[in-house]
Amino acid sequence: MAMTYNLFLLPGDGIGPEVIEQTRRVLGWYAAKRNFAFTAEEDLVGGASYEAHGTPATDAMMKKALAADAVLFGAVGGPQWDKLPFGKKPEQGLLRLRGDLKLFANLRPALCFEALKEASTLKPEIVSGLDILIVRELTGGVYFGLPKETTTLPDGQKRAVDTQVYTTSEIERIARVAFELARLRSNRVASADKSNVMVTGVLWREVVHRVHDAEFPDVVLTDVLADNCAMQLVRNPKQFDVIVTDNLFGDVLSDEAAQLTGSIGMLPSASLGAKDAKGRQPALYEPIHGSAPDIAGKGLANPIATILSFAMCLRYSLGRGEDAALLEKAVERVLAEGYRTGDIMQPGMTKLGTSAMTDAILKALDALA
Ligand code: NAD
Repeated sequence: MAMTYNLFLLPGDGIGPEVIEQTRRVLGWYAAKRNFAFTAEEDLVGGASYEAHGTPATDAMMKKALAADAVLFGAVGGPQWDKLPFGKKPEQGLLRLRGDLKLFANLRPALCFEALKEASTLKPEIVSGLDILIVRELTGGVYFGLPKETTTLPDGQKRAVDTQVYTTSEIERIARVAFELARLRSNRVASADKSNVMVTGVLWREVVHRVHDAEFPDVVLTDVLADNCAMQLVRNPKQFDVIVTDNLFGDVLSDEAAQLTGSIGMLPSASLGAKDAKGRQPALYEPIHGSAPDIAGKGLANPIATILSFAMCLRYSLGRGEDAALLEKAVERVLAEGYRTGDIMQPGMTKLGTSAMTDAILKALDALA
């Protein structure tokens, strides 16, 4: 009998429910055609949860997220909630999920589909065949370090402080994730830090090398200063395979890498926690885009980023690499056939809405399976 996976769906706000609905259709295809048994309970998060319960993340929702094999997340936020107090804002729902599930590793692939190489702002030959993975530390560093405060000085000026902090174990565990993933790819890791000017950078480099030498000597490790890494990403991005970096640099570098591929509507992500004794690993999969209030409810959203996030779920949480590759191939085929949503539209191509794009992907899955 096939194993039953416990998936938990959190559509959220704006286009979130539209793209998660399409992902549900893909789940249905896998159930019907690939012996894939799953439960897929759904709940509210973000602004939708605030409207119903007065909080962006309820304890009951969090309990279900903690029990799931994987969480499939849409997007949260919207202008109607911008003025809420900080703790009630929709984004706090996502931050609570990341915090409570202890999702310390954020995986952001930047993959350029051949059919979309003209959509990049870089020359096609620079991005053609691009396939890099940015592994960003997600729960430490300057976004969480204390003190974090604004004080008023005796002369009336204000003084704001954020604190960049990393411990050995935080660096070790993110380095291990990067090295393990590199072994499944081209076996190369570039570690980006600022060891020339920051003591956290010095520790980062020291620990990454220690983990490498002791446990992953087969992986090719190079160091790159984070500012140089930003430059190299636009100069010659294909030199990279896996890039591992801290929370702040990862935030910036992963958005830069996303732009190389042309569209925010195409890019998936995964956030992983630590494996427990039984090998269970908390995981959340989400598109990198937000709730796109400007196109919400119009049937225009590109569902591919969310559908490819489910492909990452198949690969990393459910151990079904072949099924993941099948879904990625189906997306590639649809693009090669000239189908586009509005955000990736090019002259001479066929423009589809959210649901019609999923129809095309399901048809491609039928053809490839
Ligand atoms: P956004 O990603 O929502 O939208 C940026 C632009 O890209 C918009 O023009 C939008 O129409 C377009 N776009 C995004 N996804 C698309 C898709 N799938 N198909 C077609 N076009 C797409 O970013 P924003 O406008 O800066 O933020 C809107 C809201 O989303 C804000 O409330 C923000 O806080 C929130 N946000 C949430 C997340 C998240 O849930 N993880 C991430 C980023 C932003």
